[in-house]
Amino acid sequence: ARARAAIDTHVRLVDDFPSPGIAFKDLTPVLADPEGLAAVVSAMAHYCAGADYIAGIDARGFLLGGAIARELNIGVIAVRKGGKLPPPVIGVDYELEYGSARLEVPATGLALAGTQVAIVDDVLATGGTLAAAARLFTEAGAHVQGLAVIMELAGLGGRAALAGGLGIAVPVHN
Ligand code: IMP
Repeated sequence: ARARAAIDTHVRLVDDFPSPGIAFKDLTPVLADPEGLAAVVSAMAHYCAGADYIAGIDARGFLLGGAIARELNIGVIAVRKGGKLPPPVIGVDYELEYGSARLEVPATGLALAGTQVAIVDDVLATGGTLAAAARLFTEAGAHVQGLAVIMELAGLGGRAALAGGLGIAVPVHN
């Protein structure tokens, strides 16, 4: 309820971004508000309890991931867009509405095999990004403990694209 109130108060709705007809939800002001940040982080941490790592998706997932990991006293992993990390990397390619994209994590220096990873991001739309991140950690030998977002956009089939284990801090938002 606290997270819901913070979203309703602070979300910035931007019409026709990133393309015509899209109503973009900018959660920057929610995270900039101390109570908003605390509310969404604790709601998401609830879904991530039991994980060994929080993996935050580039870029707003980084902010959430670090805060959630501290709340749970575990470590955080940044899931980067393709081309940002030095080799060697483990990566997955996935399809966007227009074109394709890539997510990567370091292939060395992280002990992922057999661990439980909870993946977090700000917004669930089609689910393509979270599904790709889940595939990445599965290929790295980890188990995906769960997925958590602040908000799900209605009508895009995101939930159906994901194999369960989804936590959402606030109810579906149009
Ligand atoms: P999906 O892969 O279609 O589920 O898109 C989710 C990704 O796009 C996430 O990384 C989000 O940060 C971003 N995204 C999509 N729509 C929005 C929005 O309305 N607000 C903020 N981020 C969005």
